[in-house]
Amino acid sequence: MKTIIIGSGIGGLGAAALLARSGAQVTVVEKNECVGGRGGFFEADGFRFDMGPSWYLMPDLFADFYALLGEKVEEQLELTQLDPAYKIWWGNNDLTPPTTIFSDLKKDLPTFEAFEKGVTPRLLAYLEKAKTKYEISKSDFMCKNYESIFDLINLRTARMGMELGVFSSFAKHVEKYTKNSHIQRILQYAMVFLGTSPYDAPAIYSLMSHIDFNMGVWYPKGGLHAVMKSFAGIAKKHGADIRLNTEVAEILIEDKKAVGVRLQNGTEMHADIVISNADYAFTETQLITKKRHRTYSKPYWKKRKWAPSGLILYLGVKGKCDHLVHHNLIFADDWKGGFDELFINPKYPTEPSLYVCAPSKTEPETAPDGHENLFVLVPISPKLLDDDATRAREIDRVLAHMEEKFPIKNLRERIVFQRSFSISDFKDRYNAYGGSALGLAHTLRQTACFRPPAKSKKVENLLYTGAGTNPGIGVPISLLSSQLAYKYIINDRSGSMLTSLTDLS
Ligand SMILES: Cc1cc2nc3c(=O)[nH]c(=O)nc-3n(C[C@H](O)[C@H](O)[C@H](O)COP(=O)(O)OP(=O)(O)OC[C@H]3O[C@@H](n4cnc5c(N)ncnc54)[C@H](O)[C@@H]3O)c2cc1C
Repeated sequence: MKTIIIGSGIGGLGAAALLARSGAQVTVVEKNECVGGRGGFFEADGFRFDMGPSWYLMPDLFADFYALLGEKVEEQLELTQLDPAYKIWWGNNDLTPPTTIFSDLKKDLPTFEAFEKGVTPRLLAYLEKAKTKYEISKSDFMCKNYESIFDLINLRTARMGMELGVFSSFAKHVEKYTKNSHIQRILQYAMVFLGTSPYDAPAIYSLMSHIDFNMGVWYPKGGLHAVMKSFAGIAKKHGADIRLNTEVAEILIEDKKAVGVRLQNGTEMHADIVISNADYAFTETQLITKKRHRTYSKPYWKKRKWAPSGLILYLGVKGKCDHLVHHNLIFADDWKGGFDELFINPKYPTEPSLYVCAPSKTEPETAPDGHENLFVLVPISPKLLDDDATRAREIDRVLAHMEEKFPIKNLRERIVFQRSFSISDFKDRYNAYGGSALGLAHTLRQTACFRPPAKSKKVENLLYTGAGTNPGIGVPISLLSSQLAYKYIINDRSGSMLTSLTDLS
């Protein structure tokens, strides 16, 4: 079986590894200069930056995926559990000192008790439900190809849904367990990982709290790009051909069947199956040229809810930033107002909630001696103006905020390397629809059977993998999406993860 995969994001690499290991002939065509898509990297002036993801979460999913490929996670990645997991600074008018989270309940529960006396049993009950949701999602939902709503809702899931409050609002769900605004924010911030707001996300996503507090936050040596390199290596070991700097211009379709791709340089490549890991909306609106071959119309994509974009800074800083740990967050005072600026009334944040990763705290090799490597991410609406003057103004505001808040003394004078990445770069580098950093937000109406499927409804032998399809956003989750495409190929309708592969030679 001959397959072409468009894009080497984690979903494309997962598909390449699964198919090559099954004996299929695999060619991956990637427009950029390195594998990994949003998980790419670059080096400059002695610093090595991960371009996007930095949190290695859901270690169990990675371990299971490696096992499916006949590999051991400990032979592929050098993992360290971060201790502490992360540190949170509170808003401008909040005198509460920074809060450190360990992903270890023995240490974290006393922190929560200090915020709200007597909250421990309620939090334990919340986490117990979160654990159940995670386990049910893993066994029944994450790896399911939905053909209709009945694949989601049957007697068992309807009953479970009611019991677990799966479909109610996530924000309201959290409020039932704690009235304390600090704890609420700690439990809710992870919704940004899913490209949505706690007010719009369904309560099923409290499973993120199980991941956060019970499974730990990990770091692979070499950063998240090491994960991308590892899956590319496995695919190549089984014969996959990965071609970089090779951009697809069109998916070739004959008699309603995908038969290959045409590259930007005009070369045609033929295959039995085409899998697109490029942005789903981009594939549908740009790589499929005839309207009748598209599963969705252009207005469909316009009406979707899109995850935020980001204002990202890659900074090389002279000297150390003493107050920072590996993962650092600032949560603004006006929590709801911040989400409104992201999703409802687009505006550069009045008081930014932001994230700073300092990988040089764990892996000093990411920066020259005596320097710090900082990745700064401010979630912003993709609908904002991103011209040079606006970007420069916003960058200065962010740096000033970091100087004052953490504090990092004289940060602006100590910067020896600086690069930024924002809305227009997401469009140019990844062909990201509308410049969203993460793609389709995880609202209830864009989850499971309501999310675009891993198979075209109009064109045979055309499959999709990556964050735009199920199960959705995030490195481990997008990796899993490759199993959905694979399941269509082997005609497997189950909801559980694959435990063995099929011969496709
Ligand atoms: C700033 C940022 C931080 C994040 N942080 C985290 C985190 O800490 N932890 C986590 O788990 N997740 C995180 N995520 C989310 C995670 O990175 C993504 O959900 C996931 O990597 C998406 O993978 P994907 O398979 O959809 O492919 P993508 O990474 O989107 O890759 C798609 C690939 O297709 C290629 N392509 C597009 N068009 C063409 C074409 N015409 N021809 C050839 N190739 C093409 C692109 O160049 C790209 O390489 C983060 C994302 C971002 C942007």
